[in-house]
Amino acid sequence: MVFARMRVAPPRRLVASAIRGAATSLVLFALPGCVTATRSPGICCGAPAVEWANARSIKADIAYLAGDRLEGRGTGTSGNDSAAAFIARRFAALKLRQLAGDYRQAFIAHPLSAAHSTQPRALATQNVVALLPGRDTALARQFVVVGAHFDHLGRSTEGALDPQAKGAIRKGADDNASGTAAVLELARLLAAAPPRRSIIFVAFSGEEMALLGSQYFVEHSPVSIDSVAAMINFDMVGRLRDDKLIVYGVATASELPALVDSANAAAAGPGAPWELPLRITALGDGFGPSDHSSFYARSVPVLHFFTDLHEDYHRASDVVKKINAAGEAHVVDVAERVIRAIADRPSRLTFERSIARAPAASGSRQGSNVYLGSIPDMSDSAGAGLRLTGVSPGSPADQAGLVAGDVIVEFAGHAVKDLYEFSDALYAHKPGDEVSVTVLRKGERRIFTIRLGKRG
Ligand SMILES: [Zn+2]
Repeated sequence: MVFARMRVAPPRRLVASAIRGAATSLVLFALPGCVTATRSPGICCGAPAVEWANARSIKADIAYLAGDRLEGRGTGTSGNDSAAAFIARRFAALKLRQLAGDYRQAFIAHPLSAAHSTQPRALATQNVVALLPGRDTALARQFVVVGAHFDHLGRSTEGALDPQAKGAIRKGADDNASGTAAVLELARLLAAAPPRRSIIFVAFSGEEMALLGSQYFVEHSPVSIDSVAAMINFDMVGRLRDDKLIVYGVATASELPALVDSANAAAAGPGAPWELPLRITALGDGFGPSDHSSFYARSVPVLHFFTDLHEDYHRASDVVKKINAAGEAHVVDVAERVIRAIADRPSRLTFERSIARAPAASGSRQGSNVYLGSIPDMSDSAGAGLRLTGVSPGSPADQAGLVAGDVIVEFAGHAVKDLYEFSDALYAHKPGDEVSVTVLRKGERRIFTIRLGKRG
């Protein structure tokens, strides 16, 4: 995930609040012939569903990928190459097919920041790609891409939120060893009962350098992009809290909201390992700070599964022991049913260009290194201010006394309805400026005077 480099447009709100309640009632009629919530082998979208996600193997994969040996999998490093070899071995063990004669799709990454840093200009790296052929001769010529980036920051402080931790290794257990483990587990589950359309599994490199791997993939795709029916992205799915899952991109095809609902319902209840469906916040936009954006830009319907930001994001503290493997297994069970529903449906999804406000023109945000240290709750789309899931330790927000649960409603005299208005108001300032920030805390208005800091 690369918030620092991307202009993140928070997506339009979509039926979020209704999701949990509606979920169970939708099962019976959502998709013709689809989804039964039975533990034992049953029928799911016309294909036998054999088993549920395995939290232990998910945790084991995350522990390996975010272990000391791979040193945070920085693009162009031997740790990154070893991670790619590991993923390729797993694809081979599942007897998935190679495209273009190799699992590795080698490319040279040219990180944006190279100009003014000691980093070499060109980094040799690779995406890792594998094919699961569809079981329906006609539909097998269409593809659902299931992907996640496997690179992270490693020893580099580029994009790190704790650059002062010199020499630290940022291992990215949640960002994004978790997503990579989800793709490996989905490969195992889907390979056991191939759907009608073909599935292409991709582990991208270079994501932390502004989506370089997924950009390369869409520009050098082993199959025509027009034959890609959808792209499902997993970036930071290892820190589920209170069963809250964010799914971006549901407005990129008209069938997606109901389809996500139905899959969520089908993965819970009698016969399923999960008693209740997840509390999904389904948000519309197809653009966002991760690899699905590269596909959406090519008019492919996309979904991004995300368990939200946290205080360890892009820090050395994003480690394995903080991973919620059982929570991730639940996310994978829902995602498997979404993927099967898309891959088995008779007709293709109806692509829609979701309406998103144009990102502010570049250069209009003076002091873009201005820093407050608030961690926004990306799942809260009520539009009544910016709810915080926390503040970064030692940040101006922390020192001033802002806490998790506070809702910022005013910033430097500007009303704040959502992340949009907040970032516009924040970026109109520069480090050192003193601003008044009004929050609602347990319904009570509190005003804080904060001296803004400098990022990094
Ligand atoms: Zn990420």
